[in-house]
Amino acid sequence: MTGLKSVCVYCGSSNDVKPDYLRLAQDLGRTLAQKNIRLVYGGGGVGLMGACARAVHSDGGEVLGIMPRFLLQKERIFEDVPHEIVDDMHTRKQRMFDESDAFIVLPGGIGTLEEAVEMLSWARLGLHAKPMAFLDEDGFWAPFFELMDHIIDGRFTPEEFRAALVHEHTPEAAIQALCDRVVKLGD
Ligand code: AMP
Repeated sequence: MTGLKSVCVYCGSSNDVKPDYLRLAQDLGRTLAQKNIRLVYGGGGVGLMGACARAVHSDGGEVLGIMPRFLLQKERIFEDVPHEIVDDMHTRKQRMFDESDAFIVLPGGIGTLEEAVEMLSWARLGLHAKPMAFLDEDGFWAPFFELMDHIIDGRFTPEEFRAALVHEHTPEAAIQALCDRVVKLGD
């Protein structure tokens, strides 16, 4: 297939969301396992994070969790998979970046948004060229894409950056979009 070996997934840690979101996280986990793509994620056992990681693990796939020490209780680390305990959020984010070839952003809250936007801003600054895809089934991320259109239309971010903003609606399509971009970058 492609050079996509390891994908970092950013997603919500809340358990109180609609079951469809947890199911999408699970579907993504199964698809990653089936394609032998390692999941790199924040290490938690809660919310979409836990749903995705458990699905990869139970389908025989590889997972790496990266958890800051101070969140061990709150985000309840998923002990069954390999994980690193790091000192702070910055190190977590850097290690998740280092260990992945590309990113998928599932529905989530402030933390998810912050992680995704930071990676986009690093790409904007030319610090990396790892592709990112936002994944939802119900248009969850549509307001974010509207905001980005607004920002680009206002010329705060160059037109070319639109190509970095990928919105897909199935795990297969999201992974394929990342594969296409990794191949293009490798050309
Ligand atoms: P949320 O989308 O708010 O449920 O958060 C999803 C994940 O992002 C959780 O594991 C948070 O701990 C994590 N997170 C929140 N802020 C940051 C940050 N500044 N750096 C790295 N991870 C973060």
